[in-house]
Amino acid sequence: DLSASFEDAIKGLRGENKISEENIGPALKQVRRALLEADVSLSVVKEFVAEVGQKAIGAEVVRGVKPGQKFVEVVKQELVEVMGGENAPLANVSEKPTVILMAGLQGAGKTTATAKLALHLKDQGRKALMVAADVYRPAAIEQLTTLGSQIDIDVFSLGSNLKPEQIAASGLEKARNEGFDTLLVDTAGRLQIDSEMMDEMVRIRSAVNPDEVLLVVDSMIGQEAAELTRAFHEKVGITGAVLTKLDGDSRGGAALSIKKISGKPIKFIGTGEKVEALEPFHPERMASRILGMGDVLTLVEKAQKEVEIADAEQMQKKFQEASFDFSDFVKQMRLIKRMGSLGGLMKMIPGMNKIDDGMIKSGEEQLKRIEAMIGSMTPAERTQPELLAAQPSRRRRVALGSGHTPADMDKVLADFQKMRGFMKQMSSGAGIPGMGGLPG
Ligand code: GDP
Ligand code: MG
Repeated sequence: DLSASFEDAIKGLRGENKISEENIGPALKQVRRALLEADVSLSVVKEFVAEVGQKAIGAEVVRGVKPGQKFVEVVKQELVEVMGGENAPLANVSEKPTVILMAGLQGAGKTTATAKLALHLKDQGRKALMVAADVYRPAAIEQLTTLGSQIDIDVFSLGSNLKPEQIAASGLEKARNEGFDTLLVDTAGRLQIDSEMMDEMVRIRSAVNPDEVLLVVDSMIGQEAAELTRAFHEKVGITGAVLTKLDGDSRGGAALSIKKISGKPIKFIGTGEKVEALEPFHPERMASRILGMGDVLTLVEKAQKEVEIADAEQMQKKFQEASFDFSDFVKQMRLIKRMGSLGGLMKMIPGMNKIDDGMIKSGEEQLKRIEAMIGSMTPAERTQPELLAAQPSRRRRVALGSGHTPADMDKVLADFQKMRGFMKQMSSGAGIPGMGGLPG
């Protein structure tokens, strides 16, 4: 399966000390496969893989991080970055109303998304007017009207005898006159990309001069999202997209295609038929979905957990929140060992260069004791040192299991908690309290 082969690819990088043109091939092949399986379009996959390759080869592999792990990290990060990094908000212009034009194929979910957005805006205290400009399907106006009454949002319609651009322009007029702050224009799609639809979109665009043109894309169309996006962006010009039907089993590859081809962000996702089923788009979550939540993602996470020099920012956060636990401690121990002696490391810390060898030696012995004790802890105890603090029977078990006395254990735990506090203070910029030196 996918995760196994991904793992193989990473294994291929194992034993290598850097990522190079020579050894990266199999790993890139797996990325390509993962993306194609997620329905990212081929041209986008090719480009993405080439970029990841370049970044991975150029990436600095920090001492102690295995190239395979670094590679996985580069892939995920690149995916997140390509999809826009963060959630992009909806336009909200000062000269009201903000005009949002919905575009897309028939059945993509435009009418539903129009109502979803109106409700979303309402929740934010904005007041939207929806315009029914799909004049081709008799039921379309009724559909929007029904949705509007469900969520108590006004719908503007002029029947189906006028041109969509005339209806849209009249809707804008009404919104201006009556103090609506947002105009949502629902339009007619077609079963496929055709010039009639595009021309019509261009005319509506000219009539209302929208601040947003949102392309509504059914995530189930997979690879075709690329062509669709290209066509709409070239002819009409989009400012963003709504990716619908992600409650189904599509892997979301369309998201990558849309962003890569138009350069415009996905702003929302549709996750159900109900009018509440709209969520802001989060690149990070979509990256997980594209990589395959059950397989590759867990692998990514596993690999990241194994990274022995844990992400510096994450560590710092842990320090600040004092959530640094015994597992982190073990990671740090390994790091210390790889970097040579504790003494050497301590001397690099400003203000600690006066530490004498005796202190270092006792510190090193202390660390060895702690390591043995951690070895006797359960996973829960490692991540929640409070369990040990609260229950003497646990402390006793760990002490005896690691060849120590309960008193040794008590001291280590007390020191550990002191160290947590110390780290918290140091990382919050309060300086080193009392310069206690080593824990213990
Ligand atoms: P339009 O032709 O682009 O206006 O598409 P509609 O808004 O009429 O939606 C077409 C069908 O897709 C309807 O049956 C909707 O209920 C359904 N639909 C729209 N968005 C979603 C979604 O996010 N999830 C699911 N499951 N169905 C959706
Ligand atoms: Mg519709």
